[in-house]
Amino acid sequence: MNSTIRSIARTVLPKTARHKLAALYEWGGVLANYSMMRSSIANALFGPISARPNALYIEGTNICNARCVFCAYPQMERPKVVMSMDVFRSAIDQHLAMGSTEVDLTPIVGDPFVDRFLFERLDYLASKHEVQGYHFYSNVILMKPEVIERLVKYDERLSIFCSFGGFDRETYHRVMGVDKFDEAVTAIRGLIEAKVRTNSRIRVQVNLRTPLGNPQGEFWDYLRSMRDRDVISIDSIEDFDNWGGDITDETLRGAGLVPKPPPVHRGPCHRLITSPVVLADGRVNACACRDVEATLIIGDLKKDSLKDILAGPKLREYLVRHERGDFPEACKTCTRYDSLYPKWMRGPLWKFFQWIIGGFPSSRGRDSAPDGGAPPHKPRETAATGFKA
Ligand code: SF4
Ligand code: SF4
Repeated sequence: MNSTIRSIARTVLPKTARHKLAALYEWGGVLANYSMMRSSIANALFGPISARPNALYIEGTNICNARCVFCAYPQMERPKVVMSMDVFRSAIDQHLAMGSTEVDLTPIVGDPFVDRFLFERLDYLASKHEVQGYHFYSNVILMKPEVIERLVKYDERLSIFCSFGGFDRETYHRVMGVDKFDEAVTAIRGLIEAKVRTNSRIRVQVNLRTPLGNPQGEFWDYLRSMRDRDVISIDSIEDFDNWGGDITDETLRGAGLVPKPPPVHRGPCHRLITSPVVLADGRVNACACRDVEATLIIGDLKKDSLKDILAGPKLREYLVRHERGDFPEACKTCTRYDSLYPKWMRGPLWKFFQWIIGGFPSSRGRDSAPDGGAPPHKPRETAATGFKA
């Protein structure tokens, strides 16, 4: 049914209208899911309602081969591990059994090409017809020719997002923390050429993590020409967040990057229900996006089912704390925070919507924002477009 609607929409609607509709549909789903989770009637009638994430994030490994200036990886104190295939298969099987169809192999930190089981994981996902999309971000430094030849054999469900830190060696080194400009350019060019040569249907996006004004020169012209031929897409971000306070504005500015202004925290961050991540050791963290030390643990797949974890008390506790304005340490000053309530709900009628959707009595609610203003809303990314590496 969903795929029929999608194919009709593709035929009759222009691209921008399709994107707007898709974003609306996604927001509606998140709000409905949250509302059901918070409804005592729904929970009494159907049993504990679980979060329905857009995608299940998998941390195949939390080891990375770069030290990006905009990422907290260099400060991480968690043990460095690689996920076993048993945990991986179990997570995927449970996720699919819940009716979900998207898998993201982007860890909180770490690079998928460091993961020695990457191709076993991709093969497993490719073998599952229920999976509609699987994707990952990478710095692509380790994406050598033999790796590329294997990647281009997958089908259109695989998307690879290539993070790229600068169009000259010095800028790249400053932003990515490693002197691997030539390797990254060769890898991206190699992937694009192999895609064209083999007529591969995998999707490739180049994600610019560069200072403003940096994209120029021969490689930039090449990327734009490939985008104009619809071989790749290009995405960029203008400002960079603080990883819950681990990355300072001065550090970002020192690399020529623009710090993201602090958002007003009002209502739960949507990532608590849209972006859970199974860590390499089998524990499940509520946020796949930031929280480098994985402090928002909501369960352990070695002890509980994914469904029980996503409907469990720990996740509910974090939702209530966010709703109450009592944010956990990782979220308190996180400039990546993005409320699950759309901007128009966070204005003068905020308490009303908080009551209707969150079932949260206004007398218990408290704004964490000193100015009480509505935060600037940024459209929520899909699993396939989220900023990671
Ligand atoms: S506020 Fe930041 S750390 Fe907390 S859930 Fe949102 S993105 Fe993750
Ligand atoms: S942003 Fe990605 S590539 Fe860069 S250090 Fe962090 S995990 Fe590694």
